[in-house]
Amino acid sequence: MRVVVLTTYVIKWLIVLQSISLPQQLKFNMKGTEKLGFGTRAIHAGQEPDPTTGAVMTPIYQTSTFWQESPGKHQGYAYARGKNPTRTALEKCLAALENANHGLCFSSGMGATDAVVKLLRPGDEVITGNDLYGGTYRMFTKVFANFGIKFHFIDLYDANNINNYINANTKLIWVETPTNPTMQIVDIAACATISKKHNLILAVDNTFASPYLQNPLDLGADIVMHSVTKYLGGHSDVVMGALITNDDKIHEQLAFIHNSCGATPGPQDAFLVLRGLKTLHLRMKAHCENGREIAHFLRNHPKIEKVYWPGFTDHPNHEIAKKQMRDFGGMISIVLKDADLQETFRIASNFEVFTLAESLGGVESLINHPATMTHASIPKEEREKAGVVDSLLRLSVGVEDLTDLMDDLKRALG
Ligand SMILES: *Cc1c(COP(=O)(O)O)cnc(C)c1O
Repeated sequence: MRVVVLTTYVIKWLIVLQSISLPQQLKFNMKGTEKLGFGTRAIHAGQEPDPTTGAVMTPIYQTSTFWQESPGKHQGYAYARGKNPTRTALEKCLAALENANHGLCFSSGMGATDAVVKLLRPGDEVITGNDLYGGTYRMFTKVFANFGIKFHFIDLYDANNINNYINANTKLIWVETPTNPTMQIVDIAACATISKKHNLILAVDNTFASPYLQNPLDLGADIVMHSVTKYLGGHSDVVMGALITNDDKIHEQLAFIHNSCGATPGPQDAFLVLRGLKTLHLRMKAHCENGREIAHFLRNHPKIEKVYWPGFTDHPNHEIAKKQMRDFGGMISIVLKDADLQETFRIASNFEVFTLAESLGGVESLINHPATMTHASIPKEEREKAGVVDSLLRLSVGVEDLTDLMDDLKRALG
């Protein structure tokens, strides 16, 4: 009797085991992802049910190394600095969101920027804007200037200004748009025309816009850089960077630097960003809606002298913003009227829903004082030339209920 029960049990399990999909039996795939809408790509691109179990969510492949059947014979993965399956899924997804073929993830946005500058040689020159993320400015002036690379920080309000700085040594144009924190808009297509004419590389820091609002490669850029830490991650729980390109040769060089220099992220972080990306389109819509209402409210506030937001029709490059962005985002900077540093600090510390903190692009609203926080590494004189005065505050408008954000602003500004 016992034998019969046991035999039945074994047979039952053999049937169950047989019905579990083996890799070659998996039917699900997302070929032709590029034709799908942005939200569908954000949710699915680069991701398929796990071939060994059918897990719908990409597993966290927490392994540093991979089995080889014989030396060099493996399934595409040898050592996780070079490649890890969780990271590969994310890299494919990010590439799909920028309409590109290649993506690489780095352990931070700065790690990604570092890899781009390492495409250069001593004596090469870079043309870039005079209103850059503070960390980028610091890396260019305090690290790479020591390696014999020359940087020109110029006004990019009119992209044609680039022509005045091009010489035989120029190799790279580095553009940030919208800029941080004064929301200047740089004409990416105009930069690309100049860049192509002189055979340069055009790299665009697309962190503020996110791929939901702007796709620089479609406008002629060669490389898109993201601080994934911001809108792409979206939940203020990961530090990561990315480089995305359609140029096979540039990708090959960047991938070599990526693996050789080693600023690569771990699989847990890749998983968190894959999860974050699934709501990127929903979050961005909400950031834009809240941002629009708050920008208009602040503009009419008696305690505020100036509001920087590219959606205003009188923003100096509003027409370019309209041309190259789908909407205007949730990043807003304000200059307080007649406020000294002490008064600015008092107001910055007076919020309850907005959190006083560096960073941006998360679901929660943040307020930041660039002069002493994100942009403290830029000399005061340089900073003020770019409009980053002591009474400037930067808001990253989150996706909380608008009425709560408005109430907080009204109360804190007094
Ligand atoms: C945050 C940020 C960076 C740097 O990215 P990390 O992930 O912090 O290293 C670069 N550019 C912009 C515009 C940023 O906001």
